[in-house]
Amino acid sequence: MTPAIPVRRRPLVSGNWKMNFDHHQAIHAARDLGLRLRGSDTAAVDISLHPPFTDLRSVQTVLEADDVPVALGAQNCAVEDAGAFTGEVSAPMLAKLHVEYVIVGHSERRRLFGETDEVVAAKLRAVVRNGMTPICCVGETLEEREAGATTARLTAQVEAALGAFEGTGLPALVVAYEPLWAIGTGRAASAQDAEEAAQVVRSVVARARGDDAAGQLRVQYGGSVTPENAAELLAPPDVDGLLVGGASLDPAQFVAIVRAAHPPR
Ligand code: PEP
Repeated sequence: MTPAIPVRRRPLVSGNWKMNFDHHQAIHAARDLGLRLRGSDTAAVDISLHPPFTDLRSVQTVLEADDVPVALGAQNCAVEDAGAFTGEVSAPMLAKLHVEYVIVGHSERRRLFGETDEVVAAKLRAVVRNGMTPICCVGETLEEREAGATTARLTAQVEAALGAFEGTGLPALVVAYEPLWAIGTGRAASAQDAEEAAQVVRSVVARARGDDAAGQLRVQYGGSVTPENAAELLAPPDVDGLLVGGASLDPAQFVAIVRAAHPPR
């Protein structure tokens, strides 16, 4: 009998600029990135860039004018599509800018802005309703990890995310495993931690939505990814990409991370 060939999903490497770069700096960084990327990078890896809202139009213009095959991404969106919600930016507004991916439930939003699993679920629906793909962030705190509660925490977060699509087919969805203790700390998870977490995420999806849905789901790892640790973190079979914060602000580092996702064979 021929041994089964392990399924490898197409990697997705996403750069989360957080609250960095005004629109002039963003134009410069997007152009620099476009000049550094080779056809072999974008042929092998899906790439998304998530600038702040005020930079989206500028970055969209650069990517489209320079024909850079990098998807535009956002870092957040409103629950509602329109209305009296001062200061919010809606999913239809993002879709109109050709945004393809929206980060939902980043731990900084959960922790600093009080986003609950319910709010995250409503945002997931808003993104999907408007034809974009959510990157749903999940992850445990250091206290939860030390208490042996990582699996329970991830399971609850993924079940809540899946609950957003109760009674409907599961839409295209990316899950980013981002342990809180690894974000911006310089202390990345080990490849084994990342693989175990990705397996938990996939098994929750398999239980709720079946093996096909679980097999198609892309699970990213995020937390202190650098050009030095990217290849190791991407090596396990269930890790399908990376969500990169700090290192994505430097186009040279970000491209080096993208290249780790398709090492020359
Ligand atoms: C993030 O912002 O999602 C992140 C993982 O940040 P960093 O890479 O800086 O840890």
